Amino acid sequence: MSDLILFWHRRDLRISDNRGLAAARQRSQKVVGVFCLDPHILQREDVAPARVTYMLGCLQKLQQRYAQAGSQLLILKADPRAGIPTLAAALQATAVFFNQDVEPYSRDRDRTVAAALREKGIEVHHFWDQLLHAPKEIMTGSGQPYTVYTPFWRNWSHKAKEEPFGTLEGVEGLTDTEQKAAQAAGVIELPTPKDLGFVWDRDLFVEPGEAAAQDLLEDFCERTVWEYKDQRNFPALPGTSHLSAPLKFGVIGIRTVWAATVAALQNSRSDEARDSIQTWQQELAWREFYQHGMYFFPELADNPYRNVLKAFPWENNPDHFQAWCEGRTGYPIVDAAMRQLNTIAWMHNRCRMIVASFLTKDLLINWQQGEKYFMQKLIDGDLSANNGGWQWSASSGMDPKPLRIFNPASQTRKFDPDAEYIREWLPELRSVDTEALVTGAIPADECDRCGYPPPIVEHNQQQKKFKERYQQQKAESGRISDDR
Ligand SMILES: Cc1cc2nc3c(=O)[nH]c(=O)nc-3n(C[C@H](O)[C@H](O)[C@H](O)COP(=O)(O)OP(=O)(O)OC[C@H]3O[C@@H](n4cnc5c(N)ncnc54)[C@H](O)[C@@H]3O)c2cc1C
Repeated sequence: MSDLILFWHRRDLRISDNRGLAAARQRSQKVVGVFCLDPHILQREDVAPARVTYMLGCLQKLQQRYAQAGSQLLILKADPRAGIPTLAAALQATAVFFNQDVEPYSRDRDRTVAAALREKGIEVHHFWDQLLHAPKEIMTGSGQPYTVYTPFWRNWSHKAKEEPFGTLEGVEGLTDTEQKAAQAAGVIELPTPKDLGFVWDRDLFVEPGEAAAQDLLEDFCERTVWEYKDQRNFPALPGTSHLSAPLKFGVIGIRTVWAATVAALQNSRSDEARDSIQTWQQELAWREFYQHGMYFFPELADNPYRNVLKAFPWENNPDHFQAWCEGRTGYPIVDAAMRQLNTIAWMHNRCRMIVASFLTKDLLINWQQGEKYFMQKLIDGDLSANNGGWQWSASSGMDPKPLRIFNPASQTRKFDPDAEYIREWLPELRSVDTEALVTGAIPADECDRCGYPPPIVEHNQQQKKFKERYQQQKAESGRISDDR
């Protein structure tokens, strides 16, 4: 009889190209999956209903994939520190396998679970799977973590990348007796979002499951990636991959994604096409840069990287924050983006940068409020990417350029010149003249007629105020360095 190996899924909701799962299968024919719905995560204040709905949809598909392969995916609703060791012991599992994560909470949890398992005489095996290169593989010449993206990319892009792993097949699942033992140890049916207290009653922006993620990747690599460099900044165009939620939950393997870019490069016939594909590869590297950052500097999760922003005199006006959240600032590009987020739980990257700059540099509201609001809404909400994006926008992060202030009007002129995106998300402004939408200078009577608010702040004044405060913080004492 084969040893029973329990494979603990977390942010790797797939059976294909899964390093830890492939290793478990190599060790034994009897591999059973488990996912633990962790109350510590589900009860946090920053959980998005769309994200939970997508995750549960992916779990349902994963259960089907396990059944096709001959085994089961078990569901627990428990603190994994107790739930995983209890289940593993009840099933007399020889070992628990899982893929590692970079987030501080996950690392702490995993250490505790591993210790409890070992205490019960159960082996623990963990792997790096969600990154093409594990954190310690990419270090500076002096053995330090990178804090600047460009040299990170240079090093990262020159390293050889692994081929995808195969899929799980021909496995054995639990016997009837073991299934009863699993139930006694807390295994439940997969709950609905409503059972967990979340309501998302619209279509999801991305269809759950491995097959849908693979289709998205193929479609993107066949049609869009060739022009990514030119189109990715225009929010009215479908110029990006929409793979962020599948990548956040590991519904597609990162090696599979990379292999698709390599195949596209081989098929490309022009320098422009090759340039576009490489630009997309650079985005995958940003994802890894921020995850490495979170691994080496876990304090980023709660603090600005740069000291100069630590005691910044934010205004934190609650009415302004509310107006930003609801898309009522009177700045059409900002409001369109926030309505997109509130409606479909996803926002175009260009607009994420615009609204983040606006919240911090125009409204002088602490970036952490925006970071949390994004997590409460985004289907792809991810600590490392979101924190990295917010710190980049607030000029508090791991980047040498301290001050980036986006002018909403010039951003619109460049990236939504015909106001198509604005009109899509702000239907009340559809009949307003394009030039007024682009500049944001909508006449007061027109605003009244459309039921649209006039600007709540004046951009030039506010950015001046931000710069003054920033310089003051820097100058206030020699103690506060611009770096750490
Ligand atoms: C303030 C702010 C907050 C953000 N919050 C998140 C978040 O919570 N989750 C998230 O996945 N991305 C976040 N991003 C990054 C980026 O906006 C999204 O990854 C991207 O818009 C997703 O669309 P896509 O899949 O079509 O991207 P594509 O352009 O097709 O890019 C491919 C993949 O690369 C990764 N990627 C792209 N850009 C970035 C980036 N700047 N940082 C990290 N990874 C990147 C994503 O996994 C993405 O799916 C944020 C950016 C900003 C400025």
